[in-house]
Amino acid sequence: MINNIEVCPHCSKKMELKTAPYNDNGKTLGNFEAYVCPSCGRVFYTDNGYKELTKHIMKKK
Ligand SMILES: [Zn+2]
Repeated sequence: MINNIEVCPHCSKKMELKTAPYNDNGKTLGNFEAYVCPSCGRVFYTDNGYKELTKHIMKKK
């Protein structure tokens, strides 16, 4: 897991801190805090976003 990345490793563009939806088997689990690259659209969840995401995944089991 890459933590709090601020520059896209693929295009060297500054990532934007926003929220991004996480999809699992076509279902959206919710929006989580993430850095999103404005150029290629890659999403890297922040520590907080990833924690929230893990909580949602655990709930399903
Ligand atoms: Zn990028």
